[in-house]
Amino acid sequence: MKNYLIVGNGVAGTTAAENIRKVDREGTVTMVTEEDLPFYYRLRLSEYLAGDLTEKGLIAKGDSWYKDQEIDLRLKTRVTGADPGEKSITLEDGGKRYYDTLLIATGSHSFIPPIQGADKGGVFALRSIQDGREITAYARQIDDVVLIGGGLLGLEAGHALVKTGKRVMVVEFFPRLLPRQLDVEGAKRLQDILEVMGFSFRLGAKTEAISGKDRVDGVRLEGGVRLPAKMVIISAGVRPNMQLAEPLGLARDKGIQVNERMESSQPGIYAAGDVAEFNGTPYGIWPAALEQGKIAGNNMAGGDMTYQGTTMANTLKVAGVDLASAGNIDAENKLESMVATDKGIYKKIVMDKGRIVGCIMLGDTKSFTKITRAIAEKQDISRIQDQTLLKGFQ
Ligand SMILES: Cc1cc2nc3c(=O)[nH]c(=O)nc-3n(C[C@H](O)[C@H](O)[C@H](O)COP(=O)(O)OP(=O)(O)OC[C@H]3O[C@@H](n4cnc5c(N)ncnc54)[C@H](O)[C@@H]3O)c2cc1C
Repeated sequence: MKNYLIVGNGVAGTTAAENIRKVDREGTVTMVTEEDLPFYYRLRLSEYLAGDLTEKGLIAKGDSWYKDQEIDLRLKTRVTGADPGEKSITLEDGGKRYYDTLLIATGSHSFIPPIQGADKGGVFALRSIQDGREITAYARQIDDVVLIGGGLLGLEAGHALVKTGKRVMVVEFFPRLLPRQLDVEGAKRLQDILEVMGFSFRLGAKTEAISGKDRVDGVRLEGGVRLPAKMVIISAGVRPNMQLAEPLGLARDKGIQVNERMESSQPGIYAAGDVAEFNGTPYGIWPAALEQGKIAGNNMAGGDMTYQGTTMANTLKVAGVDLASAGNIDAENKLESMVATDKGIYKKIVMDKGRIVGCIMLGDTKSFTKITRAIAEKQDISRIQDQTLLKGFQ
């Protein structure tokens, strides 16, 4: 009887556990997580901030699922070390857990740039339900929020706060919003929409310091501009939680390096999700974590599945704004592209040597799934069967 151990109870860890059970009903499956909720929809935390979703509503798999699947879930259990020689991990309380096969699915944490004053009260980043609870409680006492980082997660969190009546100023280092998902035209249009919703923006601006005694009272930008703020949310990207890589002797760079079977450099140890790096890419998106978890779980239980990579695709989850982008968005317009514009609509399909490699869809995302598939399959634009896909493009 095999003894499976999974560190991390996010989408990668949970999907792996589910897939182990599809193959092996006999082995013991244990999952440990430092969090206090069973598997929940991390990507819906902004809805929780806005008050549109309760903690209970966030939960994706409740206690009964773990019971049915005979998975031993250990909440509030932080892993602090590991010993590959005796195949064990060490817990914060000094206890140990042994394994035959181990999965590292520890996800990532918010990156906090070295800004002076970032340790003051009232400065937050949104990654976990605990962050969500703290932001919600603090936000009750304040009106002015500065959001450092105009990326997807930042704008979603900002929108949640705008909805609850806060004044939100976004400070973005790049001269446009969503630099990885939008080109200049798309970003300008999105900015116009968000300004109508109540956002303010400082683009091409660098935060120099967060001021205040113990608690934040403002943000100073390079050049001397001072923005009033009683709360700051930093949304400057994520970094993988790789603490176990060193004691386990795992090859790592931007994440824990895995092969197409999701195996790390050490036998019997797998990695999946935000913590894993495949072919030089730490994906950092939910669909990749799901797919990698599935493959890791199947292979841990003796299967033979391989991972082919995931097309980078993102959707802005802000009510009233339909925005999605995938693949190479060709921000500098160096490639060939087809564009469709109308009132409130900006769509762009990017091509390289006649094949679809990326898209931006603002105001109309109906064909997004089909176009993402065309990108994954590197479809030849002249051979697209479904001509409705290209309707309106020039
Ligand atoms: C606000 C927000 C919005 C997002 N929106 C989107 C979106 O729209 N689309 C998209 O594709 N992706 C989105 N993402 C990213 C997506 O949520 C992640 O890619 C996904 O959750 C990664 O899953 P994972 O299982 O690898 O890691 P995680 O979900 O991070 O889970 C890892 C788990 O491991 C636990 N853990 C870590 N270290 C230890 C330790 N030492 N001991 C014990 N437990 C540990 C953590 O506490 C956590 O529970 C969003 C993320 C956030 C925060």
